[in-house]
Amino acid sequence: MQVLSVTPEIFPLIKTGGLADVTGALPVALAGKGVTMRTLVPGYPQIMDAFKKKKPVHHYPLLQGGKASVHAVQIAGLDLFVLDAPHLFDRPGGPYGNATGADWPDNWRRFAALSQVGGDIAGGAVSGYQPDIVHAHDWQSAMTLAYMRYGKAVGTPSMITVHNLAFQGQFGAGIFGELGLPAAAMALDGVEYYGGVGFLKAGLQAAWAITTVSPTYAQEIRSPEFGMGLDGLINMRSVDLYGIVNGIDTEIWNPETDKHLVSSYTARTLKARHPNRTAVEDRFNLDRDDSPIVCVISRLTWQKGMDILATVVDGIVARGARLAILGSGDAGLEGALLAAAARHRGRIGVVVGYDEALSHTMQGGCDAIIIPSRFEPCGLTQLYGLRYGCVPVVARTGGLADTIIDANEAAISAGVATGFQFAPADAGALLHAVRRLVAAHANPAIWTSMQRQGMKADVSWDKSAEKYLELYRLLLSKRA
Ligand code: ADP
Repeated sequence: MQVLSVTPEIFPLIKTGGLADVTGALPVALAGKGVTMRTLVPGYPQIMDAFKKKKPVHHYPLLQGGKASVHAVQIAGLDLFVLDAPHLFDRPGGPYGNATGADWPDNWRRFAALSQVGGDIAGGAVSGYQPDIVHAHDWQSAMTLAYMRYGKAVGTPSMITVHNLAFQGQFGAGIFGELGLPAAAMALDGVEYYGGVGFLKAGLQAAWAITTVSPTYAQEIRSPEFGMGLDGLINMRSVDLYGIVNGIDTEIWNPETDKHLVSSYTARTLKARHPNRTAVEDRFNLDRDDSPIVCVISRLTWQKGMDILATVVDGIVARGARLAILGSGDAGLEGALLAAAARHRGRIGVVVGYDEALSHTMQGGCDAIIIPSRFEPCGLTQLYGLRYGCVPVVARTGGLADTIIDANEAAISAGVATGFQFAPADAGALLHAVRRLVAAHANPAIWTSMQRQGMKADVSWDKSAEKYLELYRLLLSKRA
C-alpha cells in the first residue's frame, strides 16, 4: 500500500508541536506493516540543506504564482518529496513566521502551493508514483484534499488528521481567485467559510475520513464548546470521524535506559526511582520527606488549566503533597506560581523555562503528574507519566480521558487503575483528586500496583499505526 502524507512539519527535520511527532513516527511504524509512506514537505532551508543531490523529479508552474520543483529524497530514514519553492519557503525563522513569531502574510499562498502539489502528485504528476491513499495534517495541508476533489485525483481516498482544531487557516475571500480552483469551489460545501476561505474547513469537507488524535476529542469537537465554529460541519461528517490516540517514542522515553535519569529502573525495581526523587527535591528546593511529590510539566496557559492550578496550590500543600512545577508561558501565571513557591518554601518549587532533561528527571522521580487541561486533543505528558511510574492526575477530557484508568473502587480492586481523573476542570474537582491521590499514596500496595499497571500500558506507536492501517484499508474498500 502506497500512502502519500502531506505535512508542514516532520520530526526530526522540522518541529513546532505534536503534529511533527505523528508525521515522523507513522512512516516508521507502518513500514513493517506493508505500507510505504512517502511524505511531501515544504523545502524549508533546514530540509533543503539536508540533502546534496538536487535532481528534481518534477517541475511546476504553481497555480498561486511562481515556479517550483519536487525532489524525491531520503533523509533520516524518511522517504520524502521536498517541494522546492525558494520564493515561498527559503526564509529564516520558523515554518510559519519570522524569528519574532509573527506569521508570514503569504501563509495562504505557501500552504496552498504545498496542497496543490500534494493534489497533483495524488493525480499522477510524478511519473512512476501513484499513491493509493492521501493523508493530510492540519490546515496547512488540508487544501490538498480540495485540489484532489476539484482535480484529477477525485477518486483517490483521502484522510485528514486534526491535531488541534484551534488552528484553522482562515483567510479573506480575496485570495480565492489566486488559488486556481474552479469557481464552483467557492461554495458552502467547498472552501467557503464564514464569507472567506477556510483551509481546514475545505479539508474537512473533502476528506473521505477525518481523524483526531484521541476518540474523546473526536466526540468533543462535535459540540459548540469544543468545535470552534466547525462543530456543525463535523457533526455532518460524524460517520466518517475517528479518533486514534498518539503513541510516544518508547526508546527516548524508557526509564531503563534514560540518560537524563540519575538512576534507571523498571517496573520491578521501583525503589531505584528514589535517587531521582532526591534529585528533584534538590533541584526544586523541596523538603526531604515521604510525602508525595506532584509535578507539573506544561505550557503555562489557559488551555492547560494552569490558572486553575494556581488557585489551588495552597490547598494542595494543605493536603500534604509537595509540588514541583516546570513550565513557561503566560507571564501572570509564572508570577502567581513563583509567589506560591515563595509562600511555601520547601513545599512548592518552580522552575520557569523549557528544560527537556529536567522533564525526564521529574517523570522519573516525582510520584504523580497533574494535568488539569480544559481541552486536550491527545496530550503526551500523561503517557510519559504512565511509562515512568509517575501517576497521572488528569482532567477527564480528550486524550487524557482515553489513556488513564481512574482509580475508583472497582478499578483498584481489579488492579487495573493507572491514575486519577477529575471533572469538571475546576478547583474543587482538582483538589478532590489530590485528596484521593494522597490517600492512595499512603497505601504502598495500592500505589505500587498503580505504578506497575501504568508502566505496563502499551503507549507505543505500533498500536496507533495498526489503527491507521485499519482505516486506510477501510478507505480502500470504499474506493472499490
Ligand atoms: P502541547 O503540545 O499542547 O503543549 P503535549 O502534552 O501534547 O501538550 O506535549 C507537550 C510536550 O512538551 C511534552 O513532551 C512535554 O514534556 C513538553 N514540555 C512542556 N513544557 C515543558 C517544559 N517547560 N520543559 C520541558 N518540556 C516541556
